[in-house]
Amino acid sequence: MRKKLALLGSTGSIGTQALEVVDRHPDLYEPYVLTANHRADLLISQARKYKPQSVVIVDEAKYQQVREALRDTDVQVFAGKEALSQVAQNSEVDVVLVALVGFAGLEPTLSAIEAGKTIALANKETLVVAGELVTRLARERRVAILPVDSEHSAIFQSLVGERMDEIEEIVLTSSGGPFRMFSKEELEQVSVEQAMRHPRWEMGAKITIDSATMMNKGFEVIEAKWLFGVGQERIRVVVHPESVVHSAVVFRDGAVKAQLGVPDMRIPIQYALSYPQRLSSDFPRLDWYRMQPLTFEKPDTERFPCLSLAYEALRRGGTAPCVMNAANEVANLAFREGIRSEATKPFPGGRVWDGDRQTRGTKCPFTRIAGIIEKTMDTVPLRLSPTLKDYIECDREARLVAEELTRRQGDGH
Ligand code: NAD
Ligand code: MG
Repeated sequence: MRKKLALLGSTGSIGTQALEVVDRHPDLYEPYVLTANHRADLLISQARKYKPQSVVIVDEAKYQQVREALRDTDVQVFAGKEALSQVAQNSEVDVVLVALVGFAGLEPTLSAIEAGKTIALANKETLVVAGELVTRLARERRVAILPVDSEHSAIFQSLVGERMDEIEEIVLTSSGGPFRMFSKEELEQVSVEQAMRHPRWEMGAKITIDSATMMNKGFEVIEAKWLFGVGQERIRVVVHPESVVHSAVVFRDGAVKAQLGVPDMRIPIQYALSYPQRLSSDFPRLDWYRMQPLTFEKPDTERFPCLSLAYEALRRGGTAPCVMNAANEVANLAFREGIRSEATKPFPGGRVWDGDRQTRGTKCPFTRIAGIIEKTMDTVPLRLSPTLKDYIECDREARLVAEELTRRQGDGH
């Protein structure tokens, strides 16, 4: 029996790489549901190739186009964001890969857990926003949340056969992003094109900018806390520019286990789909004799304050990480949109943005992103023990505050 997969966000960086994994194991996996936000053309070609039971195009304006193009097939076509939560509950589906970007991942993930689906989670924002709620529900429903994020997959792999109460510390590695060596003054001048040139990973636009600010690593600290039940005081971030050690665990006897490899997201994606088994692969192997020396350094939170903001959000608890995430979504987009309105050339590699097309017309310099997040966190009232409704309201409120801050030039930082 093939595992039936719902690939939420199948047109993105993770989604397309998940399909590359499926292509190598057609006897094991069946793409049963595919979804896209705006990229109708790619969704249509994926649907024609994989013949899923259904597809969702979130952008309702594209519904007719997708329906027309698939008229001669048996593929069911749905539109709108509520459809994501419905397909995540499809009774035939075994595994839901959540590869959407941002807060949009939360409700479909909760729906999939409700329905008892195994979750392969790429969308870290879901755990950043509502880690407590999501992991509690998963425990109640006895649902496994398998990490796709490379660092968390590395930690997860290092923990196979281990006892959680014997963990001393989790070591999250970070490439340091494209601006690791930039001074504070240089950071003030950076362009979107520079920020989009990640030294190690080719990813979607939003996470690439989050990697440049190191907000991504802050998110990963929160993600690790909820996935592995380890307090933030025992999660250490180490900058490791070569990105060969994907992360590590220190045990109480001082032993360290790490997972290493070539930076290639298809490995953690495949592991999440095949767990507890390992499948063979033709992905590139580490070249031991030509590898650069592996180096490690302490992160600089002076130049990359977003990392400290994540620890602070965890310390405050409740809705603080939700507010931080919403403000980051706004500031991250404002940074990308601001510069794009000046330079219309596409990003290196001809990548198209899909997740977020709204133009806000604001320009947010790179170094203001952290200030906007911090100020939003200080403005939106904290709610403890939040419900889903609280998170939704809090997300909306924080976006309004952050949007106002991005409009006010010179403020915030
Ligand atoms: P991406 O922008 O390349 O793709 C996102 C996908 O989700 C697309 O299919 C898009 O159509 C869909 N989507 C985006 N916004 C949506 C919305 N509001 N509603 C419905 N659908 C929406 O992003 P990505 O790089 O593949 O990242 C996906 C998730 O995985 C993110 O949470 C990211 O942090 C995480 N992640 C990505 C990588 C990577 O290498 N790309 C690594 C680790 C974690
Ligand atoms: Mg990661």
